[in-house]
Amino acid sequence: MPSPKYKRILLKLSGEALNGGDKTQVIDFSILDQYAQEIRRVYDAGVQIAIVIGGGNIFRGASVEKSGIDRVQGDHMGMLATVINGMAVQSSLEKHGMYTRLMSAIKMEQVCEPLIRRRAIRHLEKSRIVIFGAGTGNPYFTTDTTASLRAIESEAEVVLKGTRVDGVYTADPEKDPTATKYDSLTFDEALSKNLKIMDLTAFALCKENNVPIIVFDMNKSGNLYDIVMGGSAGTLVSS
Ligand code: UDP
Repeated sequence: MPSPKYKRILLKLSGEALNGGDKTQVIDFSILDQYAQEIRRVYDAGVQIAIVIGGGNIFRGASVEKSGIDRVQGDHMGMLATVINGMAVQSSLEKHGMYTRLMSAIKMEQVCEPLIRRRAIRHLEKSRIVIFGAGTGNPYFTTDTTASLRAIESEAEVVLKGTRVDGVYTADPEKDPTATKYDSLTFDEALSKNLKIMDLTAFALCKENNVPIIVFDMNKSGNLYDIVMGGSAGTLVSS
C-alpha cells in the first residue's frame, strides 16, 4: 500500500456543504454519507484526521444583526450550530465504522468533550477522528480561522479546505467563464492578488506558522484521497 504524504491533516468543511446548496433543508444526509466514504479511504490509509465544520447551513451571526439580535449573541448561536453539524458528521463517520471524538470549544459535557488540546492530540495519535465544534469559542471569528488555529494547535501538516470548486481561480468561476485555476500559489501572491481563499485572520495564521492550505472540490469522489497521497488535485497555497 502506498504511504500517504501527510500523517495528520485538518479538513475544513463549510456548513453549507452539508445541505448541498439546498436552503430548504439543513442537512442532506446523502452528502454526509458520501463525505464519510471519502474520509474512510483516508482513515484506512492511516492518516490522522481532524475536522472543523462550519455552521452556515444553520446560522451565521452576522446575518441577524439587522434583525436586532446582538452580534455576540448571534455568533454564539452560530457556534452552537457548528456543534449540531459536528454531531451529524460524527454519527455519519461512526456509521461507516470510524472512531471519532467531538470536542467543543464551548463546554456542553452532556453532548461532547470539552476542548483540551493535549487530549485532542492523544485522540489523533490513537487514530480517532477529532471533530472540533463551536468554532474558536469566541465571537467575531469564523470557522476558517478555527481551522487554521486547530491545525496549528494539533500540529496538522496541512489544512484541506473542501469546497464546491476544484481550487483557487483568477476570478469566481461560477460567475466568470474566462477564470483560470491556479495549481499553486504563495501566501504573498494570494494576498497581493486579493484572492478570497479564507478570511484574513485564518490566512495570516497559516502563513505565519507555515501551514500550507489546499483548496479542493470535496464533492468529487477520490479527490481527498488523491491529495493525501500526494496528488495534485486542487490549489496549494504555501510559503
Ligand atoms: N462563529 C463564531 N466564532 C468562531 C466560529 C464561528 O462566532 O470562532 C460563528 C459565526 O457567527 C459564524 C457561524 O459561527 O457565522 C458559523 O460559522 P461560519 O460562518 O464560519 O461557517 P461556514 O461558513 O463554514 O459554514
